[in-house]
Amino acid sequence: MTRMIDRLNAKLVNLPGKCRCPGEPHGKDWAKVRLKSSYGETLELSERLGQSITAALIWWLAIHVIEWTLLDADGKPVEITEQAMYDLEEEDAEFLQEVLEPPDEKKKKKAKPKGTDPPNPSGDPSQKS
Ligand SMILES: [Zn+2]
Repeated sequence: MTRMIDRLNAKLVNLPGKCRCPGEPHGKDWAKVRLKSSYGETLELSERLGQSITAALIWWLAIHVIEWTLLDADGKPVEITEQAMYDLEEEDAEFLQEVLEPPDEKKKKKAKPKGTDPPNPSGDPSQKS
């Protein structure tokens, strides 16, 4: 065990639809994605988002995808680079982006909408609906 990020600890996800590589050799195309981000990566993401959202999201994909089946038009494996992420079809990039949602976005979604949870001055849990 360690509290340090394991950059090889990844989850296998199937890309939408069937294999679209030349000759359809895979049945399904998949990608192995790292779901945990380091402190530095998360901070760097905020910084990059302030400069260019496009560049930041593409960088985020490129550092979290660690393996995939994708082949180029010549049947050669596509190297996982920011350029490759830029060149992905929208559907696949959006799928990966969703899997790899930055931690800030997750927090926002989990946060309760304002006004639905009034303060409970007595601290009595039974008053919660
Ligand atoms: Zn394929």
